[in-house]
Amino acid sequence: MATARIPATLIPGDGIGPEVTEATLAVLEAVGAPFDWDTRKAGMAGVDACGDPLPPDTLASIRKTRLALKGPLATPVGGGFRSSNVRLREEFHLYANLRPARTLIPGGRYDKIDLVLVRENLEGLYVGFEHYIPIGDDPHAVALASGVNTRAGARRITEFAFDYAAKHGRKKVTLVHKANVLKALTGLFLEEGKVTAKRYEGRLACDDRIIDACAMQLVLNPWQFDVIVTTNLFGDILSDEIAGLVGGLGMAPAGNIGTDAAIFEAVHGSAPDIAGKGIANPLALLLSAAMMLDHVGHQDKAKRVRTAVDQVLCDDKVRTGDLGGKANTKEFTKAIVARVK
Ligand code: NAD
Repeated sequence: MATARIPATLIPGDGIGPEVTEATLAVLEAVGAPFDWDTRKAGMAGVDACGDPLPPDTLASIRKTRLALKGPLATPVGGGFRSSNVRLREEFHLYANLRPARTLIPGGRYDKIDLVLVRENLEGLYVGFEHYIPIGDDPHAVALASGVNTRAGARRITEFAFDYAAKHGRKKVTLVHKANVLKALTGLFLEEGKVTAKRYEGRLACDDRIIDACAMQLVLNPWQFDVIVTTNLFGDILSDEIAGLVGGLGMAPAGNIGTDAAIFEAVHGSAPDIAGKGIANPLALLLSAAMMLDHVGHQDKAKRVRTAVDQVLCDDKVRTGDLGGKANTKEFTKAIVARVK
């Protein structure tokens, strides 16, 4: 019986986005992924094409498909337009950011890492309630920002993390917070997380860490962690730290999952320093695509992609420059396609 086709939106994105997207599509095709892509623009590519970092036709496409694979989108630092990534998460209520990290190349500084970060994606300081207060002739003399965490949001994200842990055979969930200082903002998250933990008592262990201690312990002994769930800003920072434990941003995939849609993307950005050079590591987006295959029930194909990646890295020893190898994006992709086939 023919595999049912799955409509999905594809946003190649900015910088290295189109390069790693091309590589990912080649592997998806080799594995027989059943996606029918509707390719759209966003970020700087959207601004260049129609003056909008999040064009209405891109939003309409995701509204229809409820599923997307997205390359990195560049965001101006300081001023300029608001992050299209943040807007997409808000628009489609993508409340959970799932970031699994596992060692792909054994023998590095940290071996046998296998942990999952669940980041709250919509609340906290990223709501963007910011403004300046002018004093004298300085219009920016004081900067103010408000964070917003809700009980419902904390419940939803901790339930997501515990549910994910239970379904994936994990043993422990660690709640990460700063409730000693931000007593209301992150205290509420901790309080609600403990309520969720009670419901999983006997099935999953639960502990908690203050964010700064957690950051240090991830460097000293990352193996003590299994699933970590935390608020938006802390999750953003910890996920890059965790990516560093397994070889850098080039290998870190992510899924933004919500009630209305799911958007899969690499953790890294548009890497303007290497864009156009053909040397980017496509693994982060490819592994995000594997998460997308899992999400739509094609675990077998996702596994074939991951196995091919392991074989290319460890047996064939074909690696991109960021992993200490000499392969360019095309050579690396060719090696994965050959293994998948
Ligand atoms: P970045 O992740 O783009 O790059 C950081 C460093 O990692 C660079 O040296 C880069 O060359 C390297 N790197 C990243 N991905 C790589 C890959 N696949 N292969 C090899 N090396 C890789 O972070 P940045 O430079 O801080 O941000 C650049 C732009 O990307 C900014 O506009 C930022 O807003 C945006 N950004 C977007 C997303 C997203 O779309 N989800 C995430 C982070 C940053």
